[in-house]
Formats: sequence, structure tokens, C-alpha cells
Amino acid sequence: MLGSDEARAIHAEHPPIDLHADTLMWSRWTGYDLHKAHEPPLPLAAFGGHVDLPRMREGGMSAQFFGLVSLPLADRVKGMARIVHEQIDALEAQMTRKPGAIRLVRKADEVRATQQAGEIAALLGIEGAHALEGNLDNIPIFARRGVRYVGLLHFTANEAGFPAFGKGRSDEAGLTNWGLELVQSCEDNGVLVDLSHVNKQGFLDACRVARKPPIVSHTGVLGAFEHWRNIDDAQLRAVSDKGGVIGVMFCPRYVGGDGLEPVVKHLKHIVDVVGEEHAALGSDWDGFIVPTKALKDPRGLPLLTDAMLAAGFTRVAVGKILHDNVMRVLDEA
Ligand SMILES: [Zn+2]
Repeated sequence: MLGSDEARAIHAEHPPIDLHADTLMWSRWTGYDLHKAHEPPLPLAAFGGHVDLPRMREGGMSAQFFGLVSLPLADRVKGMARIVHEQIDALEAQMTRKPGAIRLVRKADEVRATQQAGEIAALLGIEGAHALEGNLDNIPIFARRGVRYVGLLHFTANEAGFPAFGKGRSDEAGLTNWGLELVQSCEDNGVLVDLSHVNKQGFLDACRVARKPPIVSHTGVLGAFEHWRNIDDAQLRAVSDKGGVIGVMFCPRYVGGDGLEPVVKHLKHIVDVVGEEHAALGSDWDGFIVPTKALKDPRGLPLLTDAMLAAGFTRVAVGKILHDNVMRVLDEA
């Protein structure tokens, strides 16, 4: 096992929760088996093969949010909801095949109960509101299947608004009226609003109308590294003002270099600007990324904990970043 005894002790009390990994996309495509320990198939652990239950247990994790990905070709969104349902089917099939290993949950209490039962908690988030196919009635349907967050955008403009990057990108336009209604409808259904991939104006619009804490499930921050994928201090404040959390990605391309220090630098910037209540983990594992070497899979998480301690984070702050902040948001929303 990796990491110091101190890191292990912190994980025992505050077992890490990660806000975004696209593993179920691979399960749907290739039958990727969560129950089996994998070695990533490609050099540098590129693209996928990062997350499975044995490695999550070894990293001391309690819960993983799985992103549900659908990529619309051209302007065709029909069939996108079905692709999301099929990823949930893929998880349910794996839960049925081997009971007692992973449990689909929505609430903080359920995360705790799952951990006490010695299982890993799975939570679900949709990546991109195009998957709703323009129909808000899909929100309660997905919520009943366990979906706990909806990301407004991915790499294409949709009925809700405009992406920070990708097809139909806009730097000026905010959320559409439907996008504003979507925020409200998510909140009414106990579904968190995820602002990853949203352009800045839409991001700020969503925070303005939010009555519940919003999240940014996977991002970097501009104050630590200049990149189109990253968000600025005004965006950090907009999220923290509503009690939300910001998950930092483990991808060198977005955090500005390999190693644990760049990841810690992004977490530190969030803590410096808006406080330790608002930083979290948002790996983006299995999302076509090349992760930083030490965090090529969940086994490396105790090393990240050690790197945070070495950078001067208190044990309390580390516990909040790993676990407590996400649990608070699950409770409040
Ligand atoms: Zn993403």
C-alpha cells in the first residue's frame, strides 16, 4: 500500500470521495469489469482503465461519482438519454452479478452506511444536459434511477447553454431560459447542478439563480494554471457563496505539469481564495485523460494526502477536501 501511516489514518476517518470518473462509459462500450483489478492497457495509463473496486479499496476510498457520458454527433440528441440509461444498466448488472461489493446511493447517510458495510458507494452524475433531450421530465426519471448531479454542458452547445470549449462555443452568451429552468428543476428533484464545461457567463448565471449548493465536479483553476478548461476566482466565489464544492482534476494537461505538486497547487488556490470548505477531488479518471503518474489510479490517493500535508494543509483541511465537503453538500442539497 502506498502512502504514510498518517495518510492511512486520515483516510480511515475521512475516506476519499471522488466527484468524477467516466468508468461506466467503458463498462457500456467494452464490458469493463469494476470487480476486477486492472492494469491500464495503454502507456502512461492514457484514456482509461483507471478505476475499479480493488484499487478503490486499496486507495481507501468510500465513494465514487460516476459520470454518465453521451456524445451527440452533429445536432442529433435523440437517443442520448438511452445511452445514459445503458450506463446505469451496466452498473446495476455488475451490482447484481456480485452483491456486497458496490452499492448505488444518493445520500450522505447512505454513503456512511455503505462504508460501514464494507462496500464502496457509487453515485451517478450526467455529463451534459443534451442527455435530457430537451425534456425536464427526464430529471425525476433519472433521479429515481440514482442520478445525483446533472452537468449542464459538455463539449457541445445544448438547450441549456454554451460550453467553455467545443461545438457552438460562446464566450458571451449565458444560460438559456430552459437552462435556468433546468437548474430549478434539478434542485426541486434533489439533483445537484454541475458546472464543469460551462462557459463563464452560463456558470455565473447558474450560481446566481441557485438555491442549493452547486458543484464543479472536475476542473482546474486559473489562479494556479492558465488553461481554457480552468475557472477563475470570480467563479470560485460564485460557487462558494452558495455553499458548493470544486473538484480538482488529476490531469497534467489542465493542472500544468506532472506530479502531485500541481494538483496540490490547485487545491491550495481554492483554499486560499474561498476557504477549505469548498475544495474537493474531481479526478476525471477514465475520461480520455492521461492522469498524473502518481494518481494514475485510486491507489495513489494516500500519496496526494501526504503531498497536501507536506504543503502545510492541516489534517482537518485534508479531511474536508477528501470527504467532508462533499458529504456536506450531499446533505444540504
Ligand atoms: Zn468532463
